[in-house]
Amino acid sequence: MVGSGPPAVPGTDGPPTGHPGTRRSKIGVLALQGAFREHIRMLTGLGADAGEVRTPGELDGLDGLVIPGGESTTIGLLMEKGGLLTPLREFVEARPVFGTCAGLIMLARSTVDGEQPLLQVMDVTVRRNAFGRQTRSFEAPVDLALIPGVQETFPGIFIRAPWVERTGPDVEVIARCDGRIVGVRQDRVIGVAFHPELGDDTRLHAYFLGLVTAGAVRPPVRR
Ligand code: GLN
Repeated sequence: MVGSGPPAVPGTDGPPTGHPGTRRSKIGVLALQGAFREHIRMLTGLGADAGEVRTPGELDGLDGLVIPGGESTTIGLLMEKGGLLTPLREFVEARPVFGTCAGLIMLARSTVDGEQPLLQVMDVTVRRNAFGRQTRSFEAPVDLALIPGVQETFPGIFIRAPWVERTGPDVEVIARCDGRIVGVRQDRVIGVAFHPELGDDTRLHAYFLGLVTAGAVRPPVRR
């Protein structure tokens, strides 16, 4: 083992990307606002080729995309202003995507509290700031169910977090906190209400990179 840094030869120390002889996965991290640098650091540590995305052209050639936390209304507004809404909608319909906190909100079909621009790729309804405005930020163990039949615990960092109020028939619950749904997957799209990029547990990012490796051959999400 070589600690937390990337192995000298990707794929030789167990990262989910880049088997010997194949190229590293190219992951874009939407960098309009919010915690994008932390995602890039974590993905790079896992052996991916991760970089910032601010323009439609920067989506070209990406194998997957991360939409970070921040403020979903602001992120939506900046997407609109930057002409990114349509290119992003097309991208998330076709490729693996990982949204955290505001990123989960952006992926949702709807929010309970009104209209805002959303990418609407996941058949879920989210409640923004669901844990109460008083509880702006807290840490709590999350029950993770990434692998069928295997229950894990993940250290959840929540910052004015949403939760998922409704899931459609194609949506799998992958994380709960106090019984609330805080993580979902619909085919190759995953969203969590907390911030794995702010801790040092890389399991969710590794899981996402696993979806990226498998994702290119999957059919689009049903709407
Ligand atoms: N409360 C924010 C929103 O509604 C999300 C917070 C976060 O991403 N940490 O968009």
